[in-house]
Amino acid sequence: MIMERLRATRRLLNYSPKSFFAPRSHPNSSEHSICRSASGFAHWGRYSEHQKRRFGGTVWDPLGIGLGKASTIQCRYFGSVAAKIQRDPSFSPLNSDDISYFKGILGEKNVIQDEDRLAFANTDWMRKYKGSSKLLLLPRSTEEVSRVLKYCNSRRLAVVPQGGNTGLVGGSVPVFDEVIINMSSMNNIISFDKVSGILVSEAGCILENLVSFLDNQGFIMPLDLGAKGSCQIGGNVSTNAGGLRLVRYGSLHGNVLGIEAVLANGDVLDMLGTLRKDNTGYDLKHLFIGSEGSLGIVTKVSILSPPKLSSVNVAFLACKDYFSCQKLLLEAKRRLGEILSAFEFLDNESLDLVLNHLEGVRNPLPPSMHNFYVLIETTGSNESYDKEKLEAFLLRSMEGGLISDGVLAQDINQASSFWRIREGVAEALMKAGAVYKYDLSLPVEKMYNLVEEMRIKVGSSAKVIGYGHLGDGNLHLNVSTPQYDDMILAQIEPFVYEWTSKHHGSISAEHGLGLMKANKIFYSKSHKTVQLMASIKKLMDPNGILNPYKVLPHSISYSTV
Ligand code: FAD
Repeated sequence: MIMERLRATRRLLNYSPKSFFAPRSHPNSSEHSICRSASGFAHWGRYSEHQKRRFGGTVWDPLGIGLGKASTIQCRYFGSVAAKIQRDPSFSPLNSDDISYFKGILGEKNVIQDEDRLAFANTDWMRKYKGSSKLLLLPRSTEEVSRVLKYCNSRRLAVVPQGGNTGLVGGSVPVFDEVIINMSSMNNIISFDKVSGILVSEAGCILENLVSFLDNQGFIMPLDLGAKGSCQIGGNVSTNAGGLRLVRYGSLHGNVLGIEAVLANGDVLDMLGTLRKDNTGYDLKHLFIGSEGSLGIVTKVSILSPPKLSSVNVAFLACKDYFSCQKLLLEAKRRLGEILSAFEFLDNESLDLVLNHLEGVRNPLPPSMHNFYVLIETTGSNESYDKEKLEAFLLRSMEGGLISDGVLAQDINQASSFWRIREGVAEALMKAGAVYKYDLSLPVEKMYNLVEEMRIKVGSSAKVIGYGHLGDGNLHLNVSTPQYDDMILAQIEPFVYEWTSKHHGSISAEHGLGLMKANKIFYSKSHKTVQLMASIKKLMDPNGILNPYKVLPHSISYSTV
């Protein structure tokens, strides 16, 4: 036992790239300044390369314009949700005059009726939700968005705002024949202030492009997520995306300083401030952060970006039980303090799934039965100080039995491989078959009990896996089955929502409600709160044309509030 622990400690502190990894060349590895410290820990300075991890290198291309490899859609329409709702008869069907009008505003090539491109835009990333829209619009300016919405409102044409279409709750695709307004053509960076770190951009900028831009300026995005190669900043803001670094930089409610948005009637709300402090009345931009396109279309965003720090470390650690993960989190917060930039966890079922379904992913640890894995990232400005801190923390945690084994990345390739494991879980789940996805906020000490109880509930008919942003108390609970089956769904729901509500959690930590959870909102919000939300919706979008059937419960969104 003592010898094994000693071996693991040695492995953790002297991890050799050759022992567990096949050689992988990083696309831009020559650009990195890897600074090896005396103890063998490595640090790299070019943050953006670290950020270039994509999900499987695949860029999800909702418009079918050949951005990546997502060319064949095996559609698994999960029809039971939409089957239970009716198309709102107050919405007009599209006619040829509408098409002519849109062509007049946007030009022929930005009014898409091509079936293949529509098939992509109608289908979500999970290929679980599928609409039947006959029209995709690609506005290039706020003015165009405004004219389109004004017209749609006057004609009562329902619309779906769409960004990168990586959302996971069926919010970004039509339910019926809503017009899709995709923001990808509004992809300009407007300004960047090097002194304040404030970036102003159009909503259609892909997150990863903003990351690269900022990297060249010596700054970083305060937001990072596995879908960064496809999702757009407007989509991120509209979903209040959390992601991998929230533990360090906080939520978009703190980082977004200003928003320009177009209301349903075409009015442009200019709230594109770049001030950190502005207490002049109600701060309405917050209404658009996380409202999932139900209150307006976000056209521009100003965001505060922190300076890039040169010393980054990533460790991949094994823990024997969930209690050790929790204690490790507490210790990491206490002992790593200001340099802790990510604390992610996955259970061994998640790791197995990634190893079995994603090409080229390897377990960096020797095969052994560990129940949990934790990925810790630190980011700081002082290499030797950070190194000392992290080493002391790892040694102490190893000696205290919180970590059973672990490896510390020695270069960017290894760090990317560790991140690939964590970020690859969503993609591996997709490859494994059908997946029932739940994104929950729960008290950290209770979180994994739900996974265990769910396993008992579904028995051998499905695999239950748990992973997520432990540092933020955010569990991604996934039930994986070969195909969708209403019998299994009945075992999962409403149990999962009742359990979450009973433990004072949230049924949507970061993915939003979309179509999937619009009717479940009462598990997390009181009736009075939902009623006020519905009144705000009614005030801002009286005809209900913006993303109908999503976010608010169907029972109240169509009645007069
Ligand atoms: P879309 O999917 O196109 O749209 C999402 C919602 O926002 C829809 O309701 C849509 O109507 C609305 N919308 C989009 N653009 C606009 C706009 N300009 N104005 C108004 N409304 C708009 N999410 C997290 O929070 N954290 C994660 O760690 C995370 N990891 C992910 C990993 C993978 C592999 C995948 C596939 C998804 C992940 N997601 C995560 C979910 C998703 O990527 C985020 O919700 C993301 O913010 C969606 O951005 P998008 O541009 O793709 O928006």
